[in-house]
Amino acid sequence: MASGGGVEEVSNKQVILKDYVSGFPKESDMYLNTSGTIKLKVPEGSNAILVKNLYLSCDPYMRPRMRQPIPGNESYVEPFKPGSPIAGYGVAKVLDSGHPNFKKGDLVWGLTGWEEYSLITTTERLFKIHHTDVPLSYYTGLLGMPGMTAYAGFYEICSPKKGEHVFISAASGAVGQLVGQFAKLLGCYVVGSAGSKEKVDLLKNKFGFNEAFNYKEEPDLRAALKRYFPEGIDIYFENVGGKMLDAVLLNMRAHGRFAVCGMISQYNLEHPEGVHNLMTVIGKQVRMEGFMVFEYYHLYPKFLELVLPHIKEGKITYVEDVAEGLESAPAALIGLFTGRNVGKQVVVVARE
Ligand code: NAP
Repeated sequence: MASGGGVEEVSNKQVILKDYVSGFPKESDMYLNTSGTIKLKVPEGSNAILVKNLYLSCDPYMRPRMRQPIPGNESYVEPFKPGSPIAGYGVAKVLDSGHPNFKKGDLVWGLTGWEEYSLITTTERLFKIHHTDVPLSYYTGLLGMPGMTAYAGFYEICSPKKGEHVFISAASGAVGQLVGQFAKLLGCYVVGSAGSKEKVDLLKNKFGFNEAFNYKEEPDLRAALKRYFPEGIDIYFENVGGKMLDAVLLNMRAHGRFAVCGMISQYNLEHPEGVHNLMTVIGKQVRMEGFMVFEYYHLYPKFLELVLPHIKEGKITYVEDVAEGLESAPAALIGLFTGRNVGKQVVVVARE
C-alpha cells in the first residue's frame, strides 16, 4: 500500500483474458495478473465510482463475449478485449464516488471488473442494494441479473396460468431453479432437466419440482418428455437449445409458449447445430419469443416486492456454488460449460 499526495494506492489483482477463444474455453485462456495497482480515489472531476469487488458472478453469456467479433455477424453482447480484465456482474462496495447518486459505503450490484477494485465509469446499470438482511451474494443470482431473467422470462414472456405444464432445461442453474419455484408458486405442474443425479435430487427435494430427469441418461429425449408430459407441454423455458429444443418441439401442446432465454449447448460450437422440428410451431400454434433481461430492469422494484417476502417466509430457496478467491474465477467460469456448478456459480473476492 502506498500513499502519494494523500491518495492511497494499493495492489489490484485482475483476471485477464489472454486472447479470443474458439471452441471450449480453458482455464489457460485467462490468467491472474498480480502486478497491477490502483488509486483508491476517482479522478478529479469524473462522475465515476471506485469500488471494492466482493462477489463476482459467472454467467454463460460471458462465453460469447470471448469470441473474436465477425464483421457483419456481431454478437448481442460486446466482446471482451484481450489483455484487459474480464467484465461481468458482481456485488461491490463503493469506496469513493464522483457521482451524485452514489456515496462511500453504498453497496451495489451490476457490471464491474474481474479484479479486486474497479473504477466504474458507466453507472447506468448499477443497482443500489437496500436490503442487506439476505446474503449479499444473492445479488449475483437470486436478487440480481439471473433472478430478473427468471422473473421476466416466466411472467412477461410465458403468460403462465395456474395448472399449466411447464418444462425447464438447465433447471438447477442460476435461472432455472427460480423459474421452477415461480411456476410451483403459481400452481403449475413443473418438470426440470439437469445433468447429474445430485442436480435431479435438488430439483425434486429442495426446489419442489414435480419431476426431474438427467438428460445425459436419456437416449431418447422425445420419449423422456412424453413420459413426463403425456398430454404435452404448455410452457418451455429454454436454456440449452440443441437436441433438447428439437425434442421439446415434438411434445408441445396447442398454443404453447417458449421463453427463449439461452442456448448454452451452442455457445462453444463454431457451427451451431440445426433445428429440425420447427414446423410443429405452425400446427400447434406455438409462440417462441426471445428476450434480453436488461430490457426488463425497470421491473426490478416489482420483482423485489414479489421475491423478498417469499425468501423471508422460506417459500423461495436458492442454491449457490461458491468458489473462494479471484484466482478460482477462471475455473469457475469454464465449469459452467461442463455442468460442474451446482446452482448459481459465485466467486468470493472479499466478504466485506
Ligand atoms: P447455469 O444453469 O447456472 O449454468 C449453466 C448450466 O448449463 C450448467 O451447469 C449445465 O448444467 C448446463 N449446460 C452446460 N452445457 C450444456 C450443454 N451442452 N447442454 C445442456 N446443458 C448444458 O446458468 P444460468 O446462469 O442459469 O443460465 C441459464 C441460461 O440462461 C443460459 O443459456 C444463459 O445464457 C441464459 N441467460 C439468458 C439471459 C437473457 O437475458 N436472455 C440472462 C441470463 C441467462 P447441467 O449439469 O444441467 O448440464
